[in-house]
Amino acid sequence: KYTGPSMQQTDEIKSKFFPPSVYNIYKKPVLLHQGHMQYLYDHEGRKYLDLFGGIVTVSVGHCHPKVVSALKKQIETLWHTTNIYRHPKIYDYIQKLVSKFPGDLKVVYLVNSGTEANDLATVLAKAYTGNHDIISLQNSYHGYSSALMGLTATQSYRMPLPVPPGFYHAMLPDPFRGIWGGCRDSLSQVPGSCTCPGDCDSTEKYIHQLKELLENSVPAGKIAGLFAESIQGVNGTVQFPKGYLRKAYELVKKYGGVYIADEVQSGFGRTGDAFWGFETHGVTPDIVTMAKGIGNGFPMAAVVTTKEIAAAHTRATYFNTFGGNALSAAVGESVLNVIEEEHLQENCKILGAYFIEQLMQLQKHHPVIGDVRGKGLMLGIELVVPHTKQPLAVDDILTIFERIRDHGILIGRGGRYNNVLRIKPPMCINKEDVDFAITALDKILKEFSIANIKE
Ligand code: PMP
Repeated sequence: KYTGPSMQQTDEIKSKFFPPSVYNIYKKPVLLHQGHMQYLYDHEGRKYLDLFGGIVTVSVGHCHPKVVSALKKQIETLWHTTNIYRHPKIYDYIQKLVSKFPGDLKVVYLVNSGTEANDLATVLAKAYTGNHDIISLQNSYHGYSSALMGLTATQSYRMPLPVPPGFYHAMLPDPFRGIWGGCRDSLSQVPGSCTCPGDCDSTEKYIHQLKELLENSVPAGKIAGLFAESIQGVNGTVQFPKGYLRKAYELVKKYGGVYIADEVQSGFGRTGDAFWGFETHGVTPDIVTMAKGIGNGFPMAAVVTTKEIAAAHTRATYFNTFGGNALSAAVGESVLNVIEEEHLQENCKILGAYFIEQLMQLQKHHPVIGDVRGKGLMLGIELVVPHTKQPLAVDDILTIFERIRDHGILIGRGGRYNNVLRIKPPMCINKEDVDFAITALDKILKEFSIANIKE
């Protein structure tokens, strides 16, 4: 039974003590009390299907019993040792995590958040290459810190302050909104998607722009690294044209840099075909960063790299108070076990394919859906003014968004114009959940069209 502060009390506490930059996602806020697998319950006991997993963070299910039991067992034994001591859980976990990586990706740094992981990755890239400049893609989100405000390129998350030097943003190869269009990479699961025989034609053009940036903008003509997600998350599930990441990777090598894959959202089986999103692009990065799903909601993150790169980082001792503590190692290990035992990567593949097909059916009847995209259980629905690419007006998006909540579904929002509905549920959802969501979306969009669209 819920015994916490009332909704009104939380309003008062929030307005008094929370920073105003922490916004409410809903006009009428949701006050959550409990979670079980793909479902959440609010303070009044109302059930929600969680299609956002606390921003892609709950990977194997809210309060998954096996993860809870691993955590309980550890919490009663030993919570904390820093990495200056040894602890068996950390040793077990590191071995297990490393076994998920291809090639020479064998060295693990355990840290606490995605921001911290990406920050450390910039240090590793610079230490190893001896170069300073870093490239990321327009509209990317890689974290929030004073240094990463240069790496992150989502304008709405950047304070209007001078950006730290040495960060450049390449043109976003966005098949829906990018100037050169293109087909999406690895959309084999979607009927009628990419038909280019080789790499997409637009890939060459976006790669040319990246080359221009490297040669004409980066002062040294050499870089430390390129950061990219394999599918952009915060920016509304943007997939890149076929071949882009592979060619970008080859180019970056030529200019002295390393390739850093940010798998904070796309890792741990979510994209279905592979455990890591980068694998579907045919590249093996030099550095991989991960967070969110790694701990199913427990605060932990990691950077995985090669021995060679880690060796360049020894001029200073590496210390991190909480990185690699016994609790997070126990949680991380059980998350990996559950993904395996419950075949969650496969579930992402099968249900993701079913979900996107159903969404594409909806798109046929609802011209307010401009685009449906994604892979596995990392999907996006871009809302537009019917029969155009113009983003749907903010008020209209909010109407749809709140209606979805009223139907007992929590969904995400993102994209440059905040007009993309983001679906990234706990990876344990089932077909009934998808059918429930599709029926609700169909009804909501029908009602919305009748009330708002004159054809
Ligand atoms: N990288 C990506 C791709 C992300 O989506 C996020 C968080 N949204 C981060 C990094 C930063 O992670 P954290 O919030 O744990 O610092």
